[in-house]
Amino acid sequence: MPSPLGHGLAALAAGWSCAGIAADKRGRLRQAAILAAIGVAPDLDLLVGRHSMETHSLGAAIIVASVAAWQRWPVASSRTVIWIAVALTWMSHPLLDALGSDTSVPIGVMAFWPFSQAHVQAAWEVFGPISRRYWRDDFLSINVSSVLRETLILGPILALVAAVRKWRKEGVTEEPQH
Ligand SMILES: [Zn+2]
Repeated sequence: MPSPLGHGLAALAAGWSCAGIAADKRGRLRQAAILAAIGVAPDLDLLVGRHSMETHSLGAAIIVASVAAWQRWPVASSRTVIWIAVALTWMSHPLLDALGSDTSVPIGVMAFWPFSQAHVQAAWEVFGPISRRYWRDDFLSINVSSVLRETLILGPILALVAAVRKWRKEGVTEEPQH
């Protein structure tokens, strides 16, 4: 599993790819905070001892996106876009996990629950391991190198999404006025 930082970066990239830019700074900060929280939230399952299962799935994404659209979470202006943005953001988490390093059985994430209970793991390990064994000597070195790797991969993707988003917004404001 990648670190919360990696999940936060991927969440912003996923959410920003479809949600618009809020008019004021407060709205933009609130949108970013909610998207980042959604990206990290599936790992709260560690607290109940059911890691990488139902919360890391398409089913969970659909449930959370539906609640978000119903309650109009302030990440986008219309219910449809809220639903899409939240579903994509939630799914960025199991996607990253599936592309990460997993050493605890069952390997992978239950990505297609409730349609399938199978655990899915990509053939390539794009992201490095994150150690929670803080008492071990290699705790810091493992995590620093993994977080660095996540930032190097996800940072440019996020920057690209942010640039395209800004450019599209500029395109809208540049429309001729009648
Ligand atoms: Zn996870």
